[in-house]
Amino acid sequence: MNQLKQEVEKRRIFGIISHPDAGKTTLTEKLLLHGGAIREAGTVKARKNSKHAKSDWMEIEKQRGISVTSSVMQFVYQDKVVSIMDTPGHNDFGEDTYRVLTSVDSAVMVIDAAKGIETQTKKLFQVCRMRGIPIFTFMNKLDRQARDPLELMEELEEVLGMPSVAVTWPIGSGMQFEGVYDRLKNEVHLFRGEKSTLTLNEDGVNDPILADYLTEENLTNLRDEIDLLDGAGNEIEVDAIQHGKLTPVFFGTALVDFGVTSFLNHYLAMSPAPEARKSNVGPIDPTSEEFSGFVFKIQANMNPAHRDRIAFVRICSGVFERGMDVTLTRTGKKIKLSQSTQLMANDRETVDQAFAGDVIGIYDSGTYQIGDTITTSKQKIAFEALPTFPPELFMRVSPINSLKSKHFHKGVEQLAQEGAIQVYRNEYNEIYLGAVGQLQFEVFEYRLNNEYGVDIRMEPVSYSVARWVKDKELKALKPFQDSRNMLVTDRWERPVFLFANEFTFDRFKERYEDELTLVDALDV
Ligand code: GDP
Repeated sequence: MNQLKQEVEKRRIFGIISHPDAGKTTLTEKLLLHGGAIREAGTVKARKNSKHAKSDWMEIEKQRGISVTSSVMQFVYQDKVVSIMDTPGHNDFGEDTYRVLTSVDSAVMVIDAAKGIETQTKKLFQVCRMRGIPIFTFMNKLDRQARDPLELMEELEEVLGMPSVAVTWPIGSGMQFEGVYDRLKNEVHLFRGEKSTLTLNEDGVNDPILADYLTEENLTNLRDEIDLLDGAGNEIEVDAIQHGKLTPVFFGTALVDFGVTSFLNHYLAMSPAPEARKSNVGPIDPTSEEFSGFVFKIQANMNPAHRDRIAFVRICSGVFERGMDVTLTRTGKKIKLSQSTQLMANDRETVDQAFAGDVIGIYDSGTYQIGDTITTSKQKIAFEALPTFPPELFMRVSPINSLKSKHFHKGVEQLAQEGAIQVYRNEYNEIYLGAVGQLQFEVFEYRLNNEYGVDIRMEPVSYSVARWVKDKELKALKPFQDSRNMLVTDRWERPVFLFANEFTFDRFKERYEDELTLVDALDV
């Protein structure tokens, strides 16, 4: 099926990540502007603008001006169909953020060039690295005084633990900002003045023509720096970039929309189209005719009156047609993906057709779980389990009014099923929540109140490490409990030990090395 192959090759799907205020929203808007946005949902802009309140699905999002839930935006640029998966800023990273990265083929990292890279982002890089997905770095805000670009590159390499290569290079910054040099195209894009692009001769930045356009100081620096990069820097190797072994770096200013087009053009040329994805029956090629996809995120409806949800599906192979029958591998159940299938939760646009490399939203009344595979294939395809991330923050939770206990338990169960938070019980049937980011607790509290009408009490507890125990029954583990740990079960009733900190965990591990196998995650 040739058309499918063409459609797949056109697809690009990336997750956009940044520290708060680095300029992710602005860059996203500029990217959408360059292309024709064909499907747009809960765009970051809409979220920050009260006029578009209908896309604010939660008060918390409005109050904090952030995206609690990631959304998808799609645009067409040149002949490519590009999907952007938005993610929350790093203070608020939850499991959701990490899971989104399992659905994309590349990641774009926006960095404020005045600030540099913060180590909190490390975990996101780990997820990208684990999956071998390439990270493209956009150093933003060059219209402001920025840090030394070589220093920024060095810092990036250190945090990423990966070599980097500059594809474009800044010429000055702030008041002295004069443009960027495109090393691949051998062009200088001028920030000011009429002539916007200079194509250089074979001497590159040593082309004398530059003296007519740049200040002496900038020109000297540019020549020195490019000399250094050419001599000691990495080469721009597309293959290494596509396999996530080398991160390409771009400079510009999203606000002024400068350097964004170069970035977009190079991104499209260098980023990988959808590739085969691992499954229990071997790799599934995106161009194989049978439709398949997996649920990487479940989002509750913004309307609390309807407790329906949207399951986000990354299509891994074949063509999605509205009304098609698929099988949910986990249960073997047949499901008709009928009218209720929309791409997006807020504008309720109906999608008739979509291809491998697209993300669609499917109406869900409680059928799907995170990680589920759906397919038209007769084979019982199940894509690789999504990684689970060991929680580091814990709370004990209970309903304030015990008469609401039933609603409370129902809410807890459903939110856990959505993957919004992790839930544990101890032997007294007390409920503990585990999260990767603090915001997950706030969202949990808000939603229990808003959607289930339950006010809850949340008490911080002094645990920060969770470890699962392999191949042991709960009963057999009771003797291992002591005052420095707590034995609980997760929502699949698998035993988990909670420890106060790494130190107490290490001591425990050493002591019981021969008896217990402790792991930081188990596949579901
Ligand atoms: P986000 O939190 O990463 O989504 O960041 P935003 O896109 O909302 O940007 C944060 C602030 O930085 C806003 O006030 C933007 O107008 C500003 N900003 C974004 N990009 C640039 C830029 O290239 N130059 C300057 N000077 N400001 C920028």
